[in-house]
Amino acid sequence: MADFNTIDDLDLDGKIVLTRVDINVPVENGRVTDATRIEKIVPTVKDIQARGGIPVLLAHFDRPKGQRVDAMSLKQLVPALESALGQPVKFSDEAIGGPAKRAVADLVKGDVLLLENTRFYPGEEANDPTFAASVAALGQIYVNDAFSAAHRAHTSTEGIARLLPSAAGRLMEAELRALDAALGNPDRPVTAIVGGAKVSTKLELLTNLIEKVEHLVIGGGMANTFLVAQGIEVGTSLAERDMADTAREILEKSAGAGCTIHLPVDIVVAREFAANAPSEVLPADQCPADAMILDAGPATVAAISEVFAASRTLIWNGPLGAFEIPPFDAATNAAAQAAAALTRDGKLVSVAGGGDTVAALNKAGVADDFTYISTAGGAFLEWMEGKELPGVVALTKG
Ligand code: ADP
Ligand code: MG
Repeated sequence: MADFNTIDDLDLDGKIVLTRVDINVPVENGRVTDATRIEKIVPTVKDIQARGGIPVLLAHFDRPKGQRVDAMSLKQLVPALESALGQPVKFSDEAIGGPAKRAVADLVKGDVLLLENTRFYPGEEANDPTFAASVAALGQIYVNDAFSAAHRAHTSTEGIARLLPSAAGRLMEAELRALDAALGNPDRPVTAIVGGAKVSTKLELLTNLIEKVEHLVIGGGMANTFLVAQGIEVGTSLAERDMADTAREILEKSAGAGCTIHLPVDIVVAREFAANAPSEVLPADQCPADAMILDAGPATVAAISEVFAASRTLIWNGPLGAFEIPPFDAATNAAAQAAAALTRDGKLVSVAGGGDTVAALNKAGVADDFTYISTAGGAFLEWMEGKELPGVVALTKG
């Protein structure tokens, strides 16, 4: 895997450690409604302090687009940071210049300083070298713990890494190791599940995966498009009929690439997209003209579970059905539980990611049983697409 420094590799003692974190948490009426992202940076901050370093946190919040927007000040996150870290957190109204320098000069070992929203400065998203130099001038070491922002080549995610000795924070390290175990250098055979609504949003992902995995399970709304591509009627289902040619190409390419594609063999159909709508299980080619496919059926789940059992590694993005509305979460839940059981038994490495996927796996109650669940969103998807992430490349040695 990519060779990068961790916190253990650099001498942090007495140094100001500019630490890029993702604390872009949901806030309502000035209150943090989900502090998960803040809690996840705690090990990195503590480990830097334990090695004598003084963490100065760099982060973005929301999309101020290069201007100071008071409602998007990071100052409002100070109380949530203090309670997660169990210590006072200092704050600087500026991320560069005299005020930031003075705030840094006041720091002693044990302190934590949060700098104002990097996206208040146009140089952040432009990855402007002058802005990068101003930020880098505040410290001696750069640690990036924001994998979820690593698909952006911004000053705080990429530019600074070129100016200071750099290392991955604990969260970045865990994420990179998990991703490497899932696709970079996995135990084989590898199975990927790709579900969700549309083929069009996941085309690059599918194309990349057929080159890398032995089994590709296609579920969710996008499976409907693949059924259409095979001449199967899908009634009023969500399906992208204009993507049928593309789906056929993927099916053809997969054969040449040694990847077996698994489509639903049975389906759960209903007349309306609503919770507890009357539903029935039918063979995959029997969808009535006035019904829609909202989930995979039990025979499909059984087949998927067999594929899991014959695999060493699983990578999962996208639910198998309309998991938000019961009972159309059944296939996603059952497949998630099968993967969780194999993982608990040490037979499977299971890695998952994606906004709705994380929600679906939490709902299925398996979040703690998977080997790793990435909350990185866009960065995770770009990585699954086989793209190089600028924030990761910048940390890579040599
Ligand atoms: P992720 O955010 O994990 O990448 P997606 O956004 O691609 O996942 O897909 C999730 C969405 O796909 C969910 O809102 C789910 O309801 C929808 N979906 C899955 N299967 C179906 C289906 N058969 N019909 C309609 N929508 C579906
Ligand atoms: Mg989504």
